[in-house]
Amino acid sequence: MKKKKKTKLRPWVIFLIVFMITSTAICLAFRKPEEKKESSGNIQTPSEDKGINAHEDEFDHNDNPAHKNEPVATEGAAEQTKVLEDYIPDEIPDVSKIDTTKIAGEYDPNPDTEGLEVIDQSILGDTAKIKYLKALTDKGAVIEIINGTSYVNGILMVNKTYRLPSYYVPKDTHEAINGRPYVYGGLVNEAWDAWQEMQAAAKKERLNISISSGYRSYDTQETLFSNYVMMQGLEAADTFSARAGHSEHQSGLCFDLNSVNDTFTGTAEGRWVNDNCYKYGFCVRFPEGKDDMTGYKYESWHLRYVGVQLATELYNEGDWLSIEEYFGLTSTYNYEYVAADGDEIDMTDSEDIEGT
Ligand SMILES: [Zn+2]
Repeated sequence: MKKKKKTKLRPWVIFLIVFMITSTAICLAFRKPEEKKESSGNIQTPSEDKGINAHEDEFDHNDNPAHKNEPVATEGAAEQTKVLEDYIPDEIPDVSKIDTTKIAGEYDPNPDTEGLEVIDQSILGDTAKIKYLKALTDKGAVIEIINGTSYVNGILMVNKTYRLPSYYVPKDTHEAINGRPYVYGGLVNEAWDAWQEMQAAAKKERLNISISSGYRSYDTQETLFSNYVMMQGLEAADTFSARAGHSEHQSGLCFDLNSVNDTFTGTAEGRWVNDNCYKYGFCVRFPEGKDDMTGYKYESWHLRYVGVQLATELYNEGDWLSIEEYFGLTSTYNYEYVAADGDEIDMTDSEDIEGT
């Protein structure tokens, strides 16, 4: 009996030694991503053996050159890194267990890397889905896509090119979300605190600003967008509404103010917001005349929290830049829209919801 066991053990010992050497080599290889830039054609699978939840190892925030690389922004890099750390979910779900069949284009094997310099990527098993991708824009900004969620220089990125996964729900929000379709106070605490400050400052000027629409779930956006498509057609809907996964309202970092339409622009509140929101870390996400870059019409009422440093850069002394032009990003859909026939959501309480 004993002897038999011993002979069986030996190959395992050899296997273990080989495994340990291999995994050490893989770890070392991934720890120094800067040195790997030269061999950019290689597709690395640095963490195949670690499981998808080991993202802390895959993506060391402190060591990550993404945050040392300061393409257009400069001193604010540290502040922006903090934003990244706050918004990466603690536990990234195993995307291989998520039913992505009904989500058109999600986990695109090649998420529009046209014009980007891909410097690192790993693929999720044999499903050919992007698990981790790192690329540079022509302005030198660092894009990282981690299990379907995209960051540019540490800032969570949502537009027509970069979507949020259907399971993405912001954490540490002022008001609990708990699977609710829309939560006006469902902003991440940092954004909520900044909002409180801004609202108080407006009040001092005798101006009344209030949130009309805050957090919206993926499913809510799906219903909203498909309704717009039914009413006005896909082409029109794409100019003023976001497809599911492409709305910043799913991020807990944005909101719409007051009347949620063009009448807001000319009001005293609208003018004040345009000139002052950056002081509190907000940007006008779809500035006037930037439709071709953002992919949307001007929305004076839709603000996105990005932190004071970046917001100030985007404010650009009154001549708002879009996030896309600042970082050198595209905002175009790279897949065909397929209407989902999911459950209907009661939208009767949400008259003020606009589309993006
Ligand atoms: Zn909005």
